[in-house]
Amino acid sequence: MSVFEHPEFDQHESVHFIHDTDTGLQAIIAIHSTALGPAAGGCRRWQYVDSATALTDALRLSRGMTYKNAVAGLKFGGGKAVILATDTAPKSEALFQAFGRAVESLGGRYVTAEDVGCTVADMRSVREVTSYVSGLPKSGASAGGDPSPLTALGVFLGIRAAAKARLGSDSLQDVRVAVQGVGNVGLHLCRLLHKAGAKLLVADVNREHLARIASELPVTQVAPTELLFSDVDILAPCALGNILTSQTIPKVRAKVIAGAANNQLATEQDGRRLAARDILYAPDYVINAGGIINVAHEYFGNSSEEKVIAEVERIPVRLDAIFAESRQSGEPTNSIADRMARRIVAASKHKD
Ligand code: NAD
Repeated sequence: MSVFEHPEFDQHESVHFIHDTDTGLQAIIAIHSTALGPAAGGCRRWQYVDSATALTDALRLSRGMTYKNAVAGLKFGGGKAVILATDTAPKSEALFQAFGRAVESLGGRYVTAEDVGCTVADMRSVREVTSYVSGLPKSGASAGGDPSPLTALGVFLGIRAAAKARLGSDSLQDVRVAVQGVGNVGLHLCRLLHKAGAKLLVADVNREHLARIASELPVTQVAPTELLFSDVDILAPCALGNILTSQTIPKVRAKVIAGAANNQLATEQDGRRLAARDILYAPDYVINAGGIINVAHEYFGNSSEEKVIAEVERIPVRLDAIFAESRQSGEPTNSIADRMARRIVAASKHKD
């Protein structure tokens, strides 16, 4: 199958397949849109079943970035990189430099940052060969650095907005929240939720991450296969995407789904399935924009942490508007967000 016939191909501007002989690097960079600015989106390193699955991920995630950046009001288009984690291409400085050279060759059409499977240190290796990278260690009170705490802050504020809309109060005291994945974002989110009085259920497939959180916070551990269906008020997916499907949705018991993971819905139809069960879904790319807001402030420079936080605090305002429109029209929240994003991108094209 060619890229053009791929079910997830959505008029992407370009898709780049990268191979580096020395390091064994295999990567895909998908540029969905540069209408609003350079296509920005993190780099994911993951053990995909095959390269077709990696392509699907890159195509979906890059489109999601266009929508996320548009709704967040950023001067960024949408792109995403995936690195295929294989035994023949182990993680190394040289591997990330090879990836960085590929980013550099695109001349600024794509700006990378960290995502699942990558760290700030990896981005430092990328930075050695290209300036089209963000999410690097920051100095003093300037904007930038690890985006995860800002993503977690936005998700936390979004959870409060969703709780108010669906549970009738934004107080999280004694509210039961199930967090799927306690990695970079999940851990920060759990800290904020605990401080707000929430009762936490967590699951992860990584034992070290579970041990880390258990040593710091009072959490109940649940098997990864059961967490989605726990008897909780709120479900916060903070692992990977494609978890809300025609198979899983009928078994979800939470009244609110609001978390950091990208592409939580397997298909657009799944948003309708959630609405039909009166489960309030906070569209993933609206609630998880805190990190990319931080990345944008760092990349365009001249900003402060204060300004980033002020922008992240607008995430619940956007969600409130989406929830209100959904309540009035009956349209699922994900469809409303998609329409909002497409309108912003189209308006920028008409300005040209
Ligand atoms: P991470 O890799 O640090 O954490 C993900 C965690 O999920 C890991 O601990 C992993 O073991 C766990 N996990 C994987 N599969 C699981 C499963 N089936 N059940 C339970 N746990 C599982 O990644 P992160 O940076 O925390 O990002 C989490 C999610 O949020 C991703 O979908 C990412 O794309 C999205 N996101 C992250 C940011 C950010 O700033 N880091 C920004 C926006 C969106």
